[in-house]
Amino acid sequence: MSHADELSITPVPAFRDNYLWLLSRDGRAAIVDPGDAAPVQRALAERQLKLEAILVTHHHADHVGGLDALQSAGATVYGPRREDIDGIDIRLSSGDRIEVLGVSFSVIDVPGHTAGHIAYFAEVLEPPAVFCGDTLFACGCGRLFEGTPMQMLASLDRLAALPAATRVYCAHEYTLANIRFALAVESDNADLQRRAREATAMRARGEPTIPSTIALELATNPFMRADTPGVRAAAVARAGSAAGTDRVRTFAAIRAWKDDFR
Ligand SMILES: [Zn+2]
Repeated sequence: MSHADELSITPVPAFRDNYLWLLSRDGRAAIVDPGDAAPVQRALAERQLKLEAILVTHHHADHVGGLDALQSAGATVYGPRREDIDGIDIRLSSGDRIEVLGVSFSVIDVPGHTAGHIAYFAEVLEPPAVFCGDTLFACGCGRLFEGTPMQMLASLDRLAALPAATRVYCAHEYTLANIRFALAVESDNADLQRRAREATAMRARGEPTIPSTIALELATNPFMRADTPGVRAAAVARAGSAAGTDRVRTFAAIRAWKDDFR
């Protein structure tokens, strides 16, 4: 693959803390979760790109609000099979594969935040990349609006099984707040302490903390660490001994704790 052919992946900031991920190659573009059309249209114009595809992970307004305006230019819209979203051309669920800008993406069902949430995984990229919407965040996970702790934990397990080097492109810059909570759970996790310093410095420079990697999430994200003694002990200390009897209960206790954490 020559340099000119390489896929570039750029965040388009929107609203207060959303990242709409712009994929481009050779004048062609795709956008992931366009909650707002205007910043995407500006980015396309600046870079002289033609929008060919829109990838949607779930139905929330800050992920689909720009569909109408962007679709009118003729882009193909991909989205979850199990969610009711206007304007989806091709509905997808686990096992489906699509080709966008010459890159093959496999679809992974990741219910929990919403009932039909999907992620898009490009194994052929070096390093591989996953676009996971509001399921796995940097050092956190999405709220359980439509799913159970068991469903969300199974979804995170699917993402945890991806290659360790996989870049994790989530949809929000929540990292510092997530790290503050993670430190309340695992104050003595040295990898987490290092991540806190690095992420704080990145934000101070005005840089996105995204993408992270699956390896970094496995080392520092309490929602990916329900099996570790430290996270289990913290869940028990917070919610009582039942929270330590199995990993789903541990995960549920940590998720409920985060919901109340300020
Ligand atoms: Zn959402």
